[in-house]
Amino acid sequence: MLLRHTPEEITERKALTINPAKTCQPIGAMYAALGIHGCLPHSHGSQGCCAYHRSTLTRHYKEPISASTSSFTEGSSVFGGSANMLQAINNIFTVYKPEVIAVHTTCLSETIGDDLPQMKKKALDEGKIPEGKYVISASTPSYAGSHVTGFSSMVASMAGMATPTGKKNGKVNIIPGWVEPADMEEIKRLVNLVGVKSILFPDTSGVLNGPLSGEYKMFPDGGTTVAELQSTGDSIGTLALGEWCSADAAHYLDKAHKVPCTILDMPFGLKATDRFIDALRNLAGVNVPDEIGLERGQLVDMISDMHQYLYKKRVALAGDPDQLIAMTEFLVSIDMCPVHIVTGTPGKKFGKRIKELTKDLGYEVNVKAKGDLFLLHQWIKNEPVDLLIGNTYGKYIARDEDLPFVRWGFPILDRQGHQYFPTVGYKGGLRLLEKILGVLMDRKDRDDPESKFELVL
Ligand code: SF4
Repeated sequence: MLLRHTPEEITERKALTINPAKTCQPIGAMYAALGIHGCLPHSHGSQGCCAYHRSTLTRHYKEPISASTSSFTEGSSVFGGSANMLQAINNIFTVYKPEVIAVHTTCLSETIGDDLPQMKKKALDEGKIPEGKYVISASTPSYAGSHVTGFSSMVASMAGMATPTGKKNGKVNIIPGWVEPADMEEIKRLVNLVGVKSILFPDTSGVLNGPLSGEYKMFPDGGTTVAELQSTGDSIGTLALGEWCSADAAHYLDKAHKVPCTILDMPFGLKATDRFIDALRNLAGVNVPDEIGLERGQLVDMISDMHQYLYKKRVALAGDPDQLIAMTEFLVSIDMCPVHIVTGTPGKKFGKRIKELTKDLGYEVNVKAKGDLFLLHQWIKNEPVDLLIGNTYGKYIARDEDLPFVRWGFPILDRQGHQYFPTVGYKGGLRLLEKILGVLMDRKDRDDPESKFELVL
């Protein structure tokens, strides 16, 4: 009972977060930057911030995460980090030779008012950025937003690399949002199957789910190349998956370079995947390929075969807005009952969207943006659920309340597989369903009396 002090009685808290349902903005910026081929993320702040961000990503992806830091000392904290930044840019291009340095700020450098665009200009003027190499930046103080907004800001900076030539490239930009490397692979597979030429950015497949080859590569083979990022301004359109993670970059390309954009939900579950495939089909002007139709049919088959175990099961969810919106729609579509939903990321639109998706359920869903896991736990104590879905930190609630628990989201620190098995698309839907059914049936096997202990479920 690690959370035994969580009281049932809910009191309003304005200035206190307990067990946050989010993490630092820079972690999102760092993850996004790793989706550029040959990119070294750079943390403009103290070494401690960078160490924390790297270790969180390393623990989730089980891969070494390379990133550099401006290594603020007391002096730079008082007088500004410009000298450290310029020295860092020089050192990094000389020693590690990346194609791109993706700089994100931290609480400290933002609080003292460091001006990254001005530092970048100085680095250019002083010849510290070699010809054909790039420095991009995102403002990511962690006293605002969350890892999701940090991710979005860095993706928008990538869009800033677009350099239109005036000649269309016949491709569609696909911005996948913060999904796993395996999800990015799956999105590319679906896009190829429909026959759409695309530029996916960022793309961490082949970066954070690579093989053990015995050979260390500072910059793995995967990632969106600089040439591709520059070409995004010549694309015929953009599909942005997830309002929170991807819309800013898509809107930028639309506004700055007249690349029209469509904002879709992340393709988790049946309906959101249907909309994604439909958008691709329309772009390509083709019918849905049989292979994709088959995968959809398999997902529908599993849903109908197992419906009795899913029907009316009450679910609590914690995670990031884009994922939660798609997951809520999926759960409702398979007759499960989401009852408590919390994200740590701010945004009024979140609650509104969840209310829309759950309006026909016949009860009021508890939903909170900028909420925390403490509140979720209190809600569960007051109105118990049959299943909890969330990141690793949910395991404390699951243990205390003796709940079946599906790990899904970021971070997952105590299980494996999320890098390798997608949960997007129809195949991903099968995996999600398998995970949900697995914990529900394990619970049934544990709790059923011997007279009902069935071999075949
Ligand atoms: S919250 Fe701020 S100070 Fe703490 S690790 Fe994140 S960026 Fe650094």
